[in-house]
Amino acid sequence: MRIKSCLRSLLPLCLSLAALPSGFGQTQKTAAKTYVLKAARMFDGKSNALVKPGLVIVTDGKIAAVGSAASIPADAEVIDLGDATLLPGLIDAHTHLTGMYSEDYKQRELDTLHKTIAEQAIDTTANAKVTLMAGITTVRDVGSGDFLDVGLRNAIRDHIVPGPRMLVTVHALGATGGHCDSEDGFRAGLFGHESGPLDGVINGPDQARYAVRLDHKYGADMIKVCATGGVLSLTDDVDTPQLTQEELNAIVDEAHALRRKTAAHAHGAEGAKRAIRAGIDSIEHGTFLDDEALDMMKQRGTYLVPTLMAPHGIQEQIDKGTYIPPPILAKAKAAIAAGHQMFQKALAKGVKIGMGTDAGVYPHGRNTEEFHLMVDLGMKPIDALKSGTSADADLLGLADKIGTLETGKLADVVAVPGDPVENIRQVEHVFFVMKEGIIYKNERGPSAK
Ligand SMILES: [Zn+2]
Repeated sequence: MRIKSCLRSLLPLCLSLAALPSGFGQTQKTAAKTYVLKAARMFDGKSNALVKPGLVIVTDGKIAAVGSAASIPADAEVIDLGDATLLPGLIDAHTHLTGMYSEDYKQRELDTLHKTIAEQAIDTTANAKVTLMAGITTVRDVGSGDFLDVGLRNAIRDHIVPGPRMLVTVHALGATGGHCDSEDGFRAGLFGHESGPLDGVINGPDQARYAVRLDHKYGADMIKVCATGGVLSLTDDVDTPQLTQEELNAIVDEAHALRRKTAAHAHGAEGAKRAIRAGIDSIEHGTFLDDEALDMMKQRGTYLVPTLMAPHGIQEQIDKGTYIPPPILAKAKAAIAAGHQMFQKALAKGVKIGMGTDAGVYPHGRNTEEFHLMVDLGMKPIDALKSGTSADADLLGLADKIGTLETGKLADVVAVPGDPVENIRQVEHVFFVMKEGIIYKNERGPSAK
């Protein structure tokens, strides 16, 4: 999905956004309180079976102990969630929290031209809140504009607004006229300049390095590239390669030197292979990946983030008869047909699969429906749960902090009714959300806020 950010050229460069740290608790507002969370079952994020019963002790925003053998501190508040399953806070590795969902394609385009950046920034806070309440405590937010993602990440980190911990990209980097050129589809000259590295649009390895450095300078936790065309862009084919091998090599090399992970939007096989060869950490969507591309990923340990909710959301619009511009509709139909087959091939080959949803292409807050889409295509429920917890934590480079219920990890804990291994759709009913020891939702107890 592209985020239009057409007035970027007016953003004063003197804004002191430089050298901002990531979304991790800079200003701790964590209650020093000790909680004991109890439930009939627990998924620890890595085991092949649920643990019964579930028990997690939380102190100072971290997990102090796990398992029913742990001794319960005298001053602890015990929260017994009953017939439920405790899980690590869920992770969505592909969101666009700063993209407002609208079924009206033209209105969505116009909103980004009409609304002030301030209004757009405030709008995004609703997306953050609904995502957290769905049980998603961390997101990798992959492509924004006007520094909306940096602002939202920091506001969440500083407890100004509730939302998931965010890893942000600043811009998604791509070629002139490609999927990540936010000026494509508009008449030449409309924005007074041709998009360039400051907008995330690059041509040639030198500009590629420069754009990575700019994103890093202005607050990116990771680097996103558009290696092929996309569905929701007007002027490109969905599967064409859009960056050269040299450009991708430069982007990934520079990003990794700066200790930033990389993700490539890629539908077509050729663009994906270039990204994989360059050492990309994940392929996003992967719709038309062939056997060779999947084998390369398997061999190198490259993650696939299949974003099944994106075509699912577009299919819902098609079914409702929503107007979709004809070039986009044709691309969407081709992508929907191919994506499921590719997922099943990747699963059979044992390619690492992360959970990511492309939130914003479908209404924010429905992220956890991705789990059942993966299970419907043959993934074991326990493996689907791993993909949205420990696998994503590994992909994000945060395996030491989140993704499992283990002593010393941040206290990101959610609960769902019943048993999500028996019925994966229980993850769509998260009723308890704790992030870094703070309870944001508890529909079963007096501690609800
Ligand atoms: Zn996307």
